Amino acid sequence: MRRLAILGSTGSIGVSTLEVVASFADRFRVHALTAGRNLDLLVEQIQRYDPLMVAVPSEEDAIRLAERLGSRRPQVLHGVPGLIACAASNDADIVVSAIVGAAGLEPTLAAIEAGKDVALANKETLVVAGQLVMERVARQRCRLFPVDSEHSAIFQALEGHRKEDVRRLILTASGGPFRCHPVEDLVRVQPEQALSHPNWSMGRKITIDSATMMNKGLEVIEAHWLFDLPAERISVQIHPESIVHSMVEYVDGAVIAQLGIPDMKAPIAYALSYPERIPLDLPPLDLCRLGALHFAEPDLNRFPCLEIAYSALRCGGTAPAAMNAANEVAVEAFLDQRIGFMDIADIIKRVLDVHQPRSADNLDHILEVDAWARRQATKLTLQVKERQKV
Ligand code: NAD
Ligand code: MG
Repeated sequence: MRRLAILGSTGSIGVSTLEVVASFADRFRVHALTAGRNLDLLVEQIQRYDPLMVAVPSEEDAIRLAERLGSRRPQVLHGVPGLIACAASNDADIVVSAIVGAAGLEPTLAAIEAGKDVALANKETLVVAGQLVMERVARQRCRLFPVDSEHSAIFQALEGHRKEDVRRLILTASGGPFRCHPVEDLVRVQPEQALSHPNWSMGRKITIDSATMMNKGLEVIEAHWLFDLPAERISVQIHPESIVHSMVEYVDGAVIAQLGIPDMKAPIAYALSYPERIPLDLPPLDLCRLGALHFAEPDLNRFPCLEIAYSALRCGGTAPAAMNAANEVAVEAFLDQRIGFMDIADIIKRVLDVHQPRSADNLDHILEVDAWARRQATKLTLQVKERQKV
């Protein structure tokens, strides 16, 4: 029986994780749940999965939650200390890191410090603090199981092979809703268009990241840390069907890919049950019905965020942390209709142009850079708003 702490249980990954848990009650038990805003769903989850501890953002949320649950309730914690207590609890065997954004970093680090295995969905953790995280994983001898479908695919395609035989990793990307949209019209794209992803149903932030392809940029950086390869040995190919989840090319030219229907329950279950595979109730992949799979080079004019992410990775140090923070602010501003779609890349680029990267081996430096980049990006979003008024 594996006892799970699920950070971000009310999100898209959190909900899919609980679906896996519900199908395999003999294997998994929920020890802790944490959520951001959606208290109604959290209440339902607590009643159904009976965790021993939960964490919510604020003290007011904790009081409201405790009132709603009555006397038979788990320990209710709040704030970052509450998240950290859930992540590092002695009684959890594996922590599912599924908070969105850099907010996932500190609890994920706390889980690693406590020696927990982590099923990592929160890619921002490795983007912001990859060096620190991987050093601590090595020191604590715990394991990071990728949940991101591309990284799960690569993890599976590397099994049984020698790392020194790898030539390159090929991450696939659907290309999102604007793969074929006229480039000159992208400036006028509205949030609801960007939120309709062709293949995956996900949280709002990652869906916008997929539309700009910053998601793939974040994943290149995530792959760099997880699999210890430099930027020039990680490539990206557009694959609109999202069936080939990613590939590993070996020195003899052999390419090993992992395929499956696009459903996050598959990589989540693999991360939770590794090295076993558990029988999921998903429709089988029917390649004959699909008939053809397509692949293409990404167009960097259309998707400038992808290039920005590669250059932040090459630059190193705190550059990816600054990029990530600027992206979080810009995506939020786009979702609130304060800036346009193409302003997202522009703002991130302008923040990076003035950022002076420092080494990223210290959490305080990283958090300072994160806060600085958020302030810079916020200023730039206000300037966009001023320009719109003129
Ligand atoms: P989501 O927005 O649906 O859910 C995020 C969860 O985190 C929610 O429970 C929310 O309440 C909680 N949360 C948000 N901000 C918080 C904060 N400041 N403090 C505490 N909790 C907070 O997001 P998602 O789509 O489930 O994605 C989660 C992570 O997994 C992201 O990093 C994303 O990039 C990654 N990921 C998601 C998918 C997917 O299919 N959804 C695939 C691969 C990777
Ligand atoms: Mg992915």
